[in-house]
Amino acid sequence: MTEYEAVIGLETHIQLNTTTKVFCSCKADSWYDEPNTNICPVCCGLPGVLPVLNKAVVEKATLLANAMHSEIRPISYFDRKNYFYPDLPKGYQISQFDQSIGKGGYLDLPVPANASLDKQAYIRRVGIWKMHIEEDAGKTKTAGNRRLIDFNRCGVPLVEMVTAPDLRTADEAAQYLTRLRQLLRWIGISEADMEKGHLRCDANVSIRKKGETILNSKTEIKNVNSIDAVRESILKEVERQIRETEAGNRIEAWTLEWDEDTNTLKKMRSKETEADYRYFREPDLLPIRLEDEWKHAILANFPELPLERRARFIEQYGLPEYDAEILTSERKLSDYYEATVKAYAGDPKKVSNWLMNEVLRMINDQELNPAEMSLTPAALASILKLVDAGTININTGKSLLQKVQQSGKSPEMIVADEGLGLVSDDSAIRAVCQEVLTESPNEVAAYKGGKVTLIGWFVGGVMKKMRGKADAAKAKQILEELLR
Ligand code: ZN
Ligand code: MN
Repeated sequence: MTEYEAVIGLETHIQLNTTTKVFCSCKADSWYDEPNTNICPVCCGLPGVLPVLNKAVVEKATLLANAMHSEIRPISYFDRKNYFYPDLPKGYQISQFDQSIGKGGYLDLPVPANASLDKQAYIRRVGIWKMHIEEDAGKTKTAGNRRLIDFNRCGVPLVEMVTAPDLRTADEAAQYLTRLRQLLRWIGISEADMEKGHLRCDANVSIRKKGETILNSKTEIKNVNSIDAVRESILKEVERQIRETEAGNRIEAWTLEWDEDTNTLKKMRSKETEADYRYFREPDLLPIRLEDEWKHAILANFPELPLERRARFIEQYGLPEYDAEILTSERKLSDYYEATVKAYAGDPKKVSNWLMNEVLRMINDQELNPAEMSLTPAALASILKLVDAGTININTGKSLLQKVQQSGKSPEMIVADEGLGLVSDDSAIRAVCQEVLTESPNEVAAYKGGKVTLIGWFVGGVMKKMRGKADAAKAKQILEELLR
């Protein structure tokens, strides 16, 4: 049987999280608003109005271009993309065509995401073909026999980004979106919530025989609004193309729509070609001149990116890839980890264990923001130090996490107030040990008869009487001494 490989390119539309729209002062995000309440003559394209570019859009697009290792054009232009559709009242979309803000670039994907779990791990570099600023169109929907239009979304700022056909599997495509979403949140330019349409994706899919370099005719899958849907729909489409090819049929350049309810692909209209859009320079807007001074100001506090930080965590703190991956899943979490390591000044892996097991569960269950928790990195470091010093045991330490978070008090204060410190006074522990032995003559006899494993049972008895606050090692030592 012939072996095939998939050739996949993704086209994404990213909604920038600016306060206002791209060419007017209407509110940008109207997810929770009534239809047609965030509109004005500019975004509705009424005759005689003029667009004014929102500076923040240029700044956020520049951050994205930098994060994607793209060349940032010092001068870029707006163009009109003409098409007629009810959700586009002007009859054209203001976009960027040949001289857009970003040129080239790439995103590296570690595949699989947790490379340490798989010996077949590799880095897939996905090239960027296009990156431009544009305005969003409105939204139409059918209600009974009526067609409804909501213009709220008209003029919402977007960056459209198109990859080269560098992805080879549905998993890689899903991984691209996961990494892109992570990156967008990391640099703070989009909420990247696919359910709310902040990150939309179309997939171009074709197949070829393994080892070939030609590009066969492709289909475009529209309307895939979750990462799972991207993976699922590509899997289905690749299977279909292989089936058709094996049956001797040609793959036609269809546009397909993913139906979320039935998990199937449906054929849509045939695709416009670029010439149909009759692009020309937007006469109502000046070019964007990104002077060096402005560009440097935008990029002045550009953060270390997730994959760089992931690599550094492995290198600098000796973390396994698995830990580094989770700890850099979000910027705030990675900042939290690093601040705790600094405050603790002990084993970084120990901090990772506590953070990944105990603290992360708390963060997820209670939907906490790591940057705003009462359990600060300093407080977590204090708890670890208290455990290290033998002032409290591990279980008390774990229970302190929640207590600090709820009360906002320091761990030391809670330990003092609630008397949680371990009893290290030998005579107090000795008295309880003696009590346990006196109360259990049969077990003592059995121990002396050779059943030495009973020592654990005696220690348990001491811990129970002292409500867990005895130093277990010390209790064991005293018990053995008394039993001799
Ligand atoms: Zn407006
Ligand atoms: Mn577009």
